[in-house]
Amino acid sequence: MVYVSNQMRTEELAALDAAHHLHPFTNGDELNAKGARVILRAKGVTLTDSEGNDILDAMAGLWCVNIGYGREELAEVAARQIRELPYYNTFFQTTHVPAIALATKLAELAPGDLNHVFFAMGGSDANDTNIRMVRRYWAAKGKPEKQVIISRKNAYHGSTMGGASLGGMAAMHKQGGLPIPNIVHIGQPHWYAEGGEMSPEEFGLMRARELEEKIAELGEGKVAAFIAEPIQGAGGVVIPPESYWPEIQRICDAHEILLIADEVITGFGRTGNWFGSQTLNIRPHIMTIAKGLSSGYAPIGGSLVCDEVAEVLNGSGEFAHGYTYSAHPVAAAIALENLRILEEEKIVEHAGTVAGPYLAEKWAALADHPLAGEARSIGMMATLALTPDKASRAAFASDEGTIGLICRERCFANNLVMRHVGDRMIIAPPLIMQPSDIDVMIERAVRSLDETYDKVKAEGLL
Ligand code: PMP
Repeated sequence: MVYVSNQMRTEELAALDAAHHLHPFTNGDELNAKGARVILRAKGVTLTDSEGNDILDAMAGLWCVNIGYGREELAEVAARQIRELPYYNTFFQTTHVPAIALATKLAELAPGDLNHVFFAMGGSDANDTNIRMVRRYWAAKGKPEKQVIISRKNAYHGSTMGGASLGGMAAMHKQGGLPIPNIVHIGQPHWYAEGGEMSPEEFGLMRARELEEKIAELGEGKVAAFIAEPIQGAGGVVIPPESYWPEIQRICDAHEILLIADEVITGFGRTGNWFGSQTLNIRPHIMTIAKGLSSGYAPIGGSLVCDEVAEVLNGSGEFAHGYTYSAHPVAAAIALENLRILEEEKIVEHAGTVAGPYLAEKWAALADHPLAGEARSIGMMATLALTPDKASRAAFASDEGTIGLICRERCFANNLVMRHVGDRMIIAPPLIMQPSDIDVMIERAVRSLDETYDKVKAEGLL
């Protein structure tokens, strides 16, 4: 029997990890050869690893720890809820107080008439719910042939069979026979990478109109819904041209299809408002939520649903769908406390009016770095394209992601968690960051960029 504890040496922990733990989105052999970094604890915006390094977490975990680490209140609420009712389901004519309280609070916070919630454990399974729910909705309305869901290339909607099918990640579709039937993809509004000589506004309109063309091609009678992230996250923090969303909204309004906003990343303050749909003026029928809903303190997600869709679902017999842990009482209680903290401490306002604008100013200045192509942010998410040639927005001659990985490794060495998507660096820090934290983050980012530049030059990769 091996007793694993945080007193063990890093090498021992990493060896056991390599022997027994299969990591998500990871090349196993490569990781095991290097050994994983062991994170022991975290407080505020800082992680501490088993070597005693204090690391600034500019990704808020995986875009989720909106209120920061180490909030005692959440530990208290979790302990209290476990003592009182650690588990019960909401399947067979039962409910419980945390589920009622959280659903009520979400209805209050959500825009428009998104007054109903179907709970899941995270974003992927919430999107699976959405696939089944929109098809069920149209069947209930006597239009069972409305099955197809239109999504976008380079979108991320999760890793389940449904979520990965909705997503438009080519590397994911290559594995395991995806996408499942009746999910199709149109182009993404990624002007920097794909806009060529067009202006961003022209390009945004063109990409939005692909939706209308796809609806015409398939026939409106076959299309159930369009799903999109207000701002693509895992795709590289792709902030669409301003012309994009109004045109998408016009098209959705003009046709009989449902609009699903996947707000797993953009929800709960990330863009400076409670929801990205408010920042971008989108009116979805369904909203996918997770991550910031509990600030990552417990696995919980869900689908926020408008009055009309809920009414049709409720009025059409049993919706044969649900998870053992839908509305898990401990996760729901934690989420509710997280929302209380976000609201009472005005953290969303802080992200929108203090931290976000400060980050925008400091981040934009990174565009002057010799390796940087564009540097943009919205609220508390930001993206930096690396390029060998600013003017042409050219890609590097090396395999895509080579330079991004070098930069990520320099960030790691400088005690900064910044992620790379191809040759693009992205951040989504905790919303509680103060200007002084942002200064430290930018200082480490600049140092890492300088070191990346030196290395790239030395290795002849420019
Ligand atoms: N949708 C979006 C927009 C996401 O960013 C993610 C996760 N990064 C998911 C869905 C999947 O969520 P989860 O990993 O909680 O299943």
